[in-house]
Amino acid sequence: MAAQIIDGKAIAAEVRQQVAADVKSLQASHGLTPGLAVVLVGEDPASKVYVKNKAAQTVEVGMQSFEHKLPADTSEEDVLVLVQTLNADKNVNGILVQLPLPKHINAEKVLNSIDPNKDVDGFHPTNVGRLWIGERTLVPCTPTGSAILAKKIIPNLKGVNAVIIGRSNIVGKPMAALLLRESCTVTIAHSQTKDLPAVCRGADLLVAAVGRPEMVKRDWIKPGAVVIDVGINRVPGENGKTKLVGDVAYAECAEVAGAITPVPGGVGPMTIACLLQNTVTAAKMQYGIE
Ligand code: NAD
Repeated sequence: MAAQIIDGKAIAAEVRQQVAADVKSLQASHGLTPGLAVVLVGEDPASKVYVKNKAAQTVEVGMQSFEHKLPADTSEEDVLVLVQTLNADKNVNGILVQLPLPKHINAEKVLNSIDPNKDVDGFHPTNVGRLWIGERTLVPCTPTGSAILAKKIIPNLKGVNAVIIGRSNIVGKPMAALLLRESCTVTIAHSQTKDLPAVCRGADLLVAAVGRPEMVKRDWIKPGAVVIDVGINRVPGENGKTKLVGDVAYAECAEVAGAITPVPGGVGPMTIACLLQNTVTAAKMQYGIE
């Protein structure tokens, strides 16, 4: 039987609707309109598109958007000064520094200078720690979105065998922390894992976050498993054009899986929606609102 397709576009729209409702109720109860500041250094074309989309969606849900576009030759010191200004600005509840930064700027130093309570990317070591010890915190957006998609199919993840392929700080590790918080039995597989197909075959929930086009094959999937494909890979397509594919060989795996996310249209749209959700959470945390 063909797998159920998990529609990330539609589910992201639901998340944005909820964010818009939360913004309205914060305005009514506390006179508070959450604000998101995005810092872009340089002219990277993909980053410019991301930042434009983030700003447009921020405004669409009724929040304030503050864009800071700096030239590529901006010094590290000037970026750090801007972050300090945003840390102190009461109208700014969330701060996102778009990566990659130009090579002369130490990205880790910049990210670590963001006030953890405004760190809507959830990359600050304080927030990483809070996530792993189970405190209320700001969680990285892509894993949060992936977990929302998984819960649409398996609302109660307790005891589910989850395998995550990939151990990056941005996706794999926070995904593991989130699924552990949901009481899954979590395995993190990576480039050194022995017999990866066999490990994956044990998964009721398989999350692929590798960055290798269509690596996960049909015979890696346990029949009926839920497959969340985080990978975004650009590969040659037809007529000299390129196309996007995930880390999962979608067509063949969809014949075995119970449910699967497509690429594009799966995890991708969830990331900005969860960024908006994090901005509301950050505002609530800053004002001590449950
Ligand atoms: P990364 O390169 O930082 O990490 C990749 C991980 O995969 C590593 O931990 C590595 O151990 C593992 N790996 C590499 N080769 C492997 C192999 N042959 N077998 C098993 N494991 C292997 O990448 P990332 O930042 O975690 O991103 C992963 C993918 O997710 C990329 O395709 C990226 O574009 C995509 N991504 C999508 C979104 C989104 O949807 N918005 C956000 C972030 C990343």
